[in-house]
Amino acid sequence: MAEPIGIITIKDALSEATQRLHEAGIESARLDGEVLLAYILKVKREYLYAHPERLLGFNEYEEYQAVLERRATRLPVSYITGSKEFMSLDYIVNEHVLIPRPETEILVEETVSRLEVLRRVHDPLIVVDIGTGSGAIAVAIAWFLEAVDVIGTDISCDALAVAKKNAEKHKVDDRIRFLQGDLLSPLNGKGLEHRITAIVSNPPYLSGRAMAEVPPEVAKEPKAALVGGEQGLNFLFVILEDAPRFLAPGGFVALEIGYDQAKTLTGFAKDVPGYTKVTTVPDLAGIERVLIANI
Ligand code: SAM
Ligand code: GLN
Repeated sequence: MAEPIGIITIKDALSEATQRLHEAGIESARLDGEVLLAYILKVKREYLYAHPERLLGFNEYEEYQAVLERRATRLPVSYITGSKEFMSLDYIVNEHVLIPRPETEILVEETVSRLEVLRRVHDPLIVVDIGTGSGAIAVAIAWFLEAVDVIGTDISCDALAVAKKNAEKHKVDDRIRFLQGDLLSPLNGKGLEHRITAIVSNPPYLSGRAMAEVPPEVAKEPKAALVGGEQGLNFLFVILEDAPRFLAPGGFVALEIGYDQAKTLTGFAKDVPGYTKVTTVPDLAGIERVLIANI
């Protein structure tokens, strides 16, 4: 129903919001103000520019003020709107999951391109995403590769509930199984030894020190999704060590890694029996972001 009384234009509401968020120390104040107003009005962001003189109704303005106050506490925009785009797909997110990061798209792209080649020889194609969180990686892989069986695991039941919703949302739930448990242990006892083509993971890899220095928004994300022990390497080491017994010949492990971890992890992987080749893939800034270990 149309709001009877307009009290402020979109343009003025946005300037007010920008100032409010700027005062809260938020660099992306204008952008966040726009995203949140578009969310409240249930329109695309472009609409705000096309209709700067449209008046907000009282209720709309009140709701907008409420979300701005939440954002001013440095709660990430995605937790307020409940969504985040990843690999051009819209994901449901909440405070139980890490908000999918753009850098993780490199991991998905590298994995999908290798699987496109391997699918000619691996039947069935089984892919495991360890620490699936929102299901970002698992759902994208199932979306981009039709003939694939995906298993997503996580230690957190709350995260798995979100991942399941995302699999249903993108209609790939018939090709993804979600299992709860510690790292690769949910794979035990399922006859999966030497049958998996790819083990993919963006595990928690921040060091304790790095975690102490994250921006306030990242501090609102689950700590268990971010910190991988003192040096950040604990989960990465265990995955690299455990993966060979599950990988099929020609298979591989693909891991997202921290900006300063490539050398240590490459050295470590080369000493693990089973791997024939260990490589890293840089991001656009030249930082080695993904480690691939082939069996
Ligand atoms: N895969 C998602 C993504 O890339 O956006 C989430 C990655 S997040 C960095 C790491 C995930 O690992 C979290 O969902 C966390 O709950 C999960 N996790 C933490 N410890 C774990 C463990 N011991 N075993 C399995 N998953 C774990
Ligand atoms: N890239 C994330 C960050 O900088 C860390 C993700 C992770 O630990 N896997 O906050």
